Amino acid sequence: EKFRDGLSKTRNSFSEKVNDLVSRYRKVDEEFFEELEEILISADVGVTTVMDLIDVLKTEVKKRNIQDPKDVQAVISEKLVELFTDDNDEKVEGLNIQPDGLTVILFVGVNGVGKTTTIGKLAHKLKNEGKSVLLAAGDTFRAGAIEQLEVWGERVGVEVIKQSEGSDPAAVMFDALQAAKSRKVDILICDTAGRLQNKVNLMKELEKVKRVIEREVPGAPHEVLLVLDATTGQNAMSQAKQFSEATNVTGIVLTKLDGTAKGGIVLAIRHELKTPVKFVGLGEKTEDLQEFDPEQFVYGLFA
Ligand code: GDP
Repeated sequence: EKFRDGLSKTRNSFSEKVNDLVSRYRKVDEEFFEELEEILISADVGVTTVMDLIDVLKTEVKKRNIQDPKDVQAVISEKLVELFTDDNDEKVEGLNIQPDGLTVILFVGVNGVGKTTTIGKLAHKLKNEGKSVLLAAGDTFRAGAIEQLEVWGERVGVEVIKQSEGSDPAAVMFDALQAAKSRKVDILICDTAGRLQNKVNLMKELEKVKRVIEREVPGAPHEVLLVLDATTGQNAMSQAKQFSEATNVTGIVLTKLDGTAKGGIVLAIRHELKTPVKFVGLGEKTEDLQEFDPEQFVYGLFA
């Protein structure tokens, strides 16, 4: 249901175009595929991914001897799902939560993508699953970032470890890690700064924060989640590339899918970066964070 509602913009533009396409053509020819290519690109699926997908579709259509364009639709769904799972047996790629002891989740991403909101939503979700959660206000740079995290902390009933604005994020992290360990908390979720103006410093700061975490908790961080704003399309893709080069991103959270007709960006990110999309944001409310399920997503596109 959530996927259906949240994807309505993408669905309306994408599935309508596909439906229109298959009803206009009498046979599956080169022109048909060219139009399909355009539809996919306009949904921000990304050129590389579209090319790969079209190749796969052509092969499959030939193999199954499909003549009727209407029969291609099912193949599209099938192959879209396969694109998400081509290098993984698990369809839904959940969080790496430690069965015993502390799990540390580090959030990265540029300002405005929805990082704070996502941290609040995830804290709520994990708490509902019976975990004890602590937040670390590691964005000491952006004015108001600490307060905003505290608002979320209050909203979902989770404590925030903080220092004053402008303090060293690594020191905040150290405090938070001590608190998490002494209170035997299950999950520590860490915010980080997201300024892009000074990329080198941002990446250095991330490295420093990560080193503190690695030193204090062997094996941590267990997840480094990069938050990307789906409405920024190919811009999100280039952010993903930059962060992946700078740090070991273990998963992606794609926010604001509800606000775009170009939900195809999920596919491009998963296929081109080989990084699992772990969650998607489908609205501004606490419950609007969904574990990413490729089958539900693709089904949601056509349903
Ligand atoms: P940050 O700077 O990365 O921490 O971004 P924020 O968490 O402050 O979010 C920026 C804006 O995006 C806020 O107005 C959020 O309510 C909004 N937002 C975050 N996630 C979503 C989402 O999944 N859908 C929609 N529609 N809005 C979102």
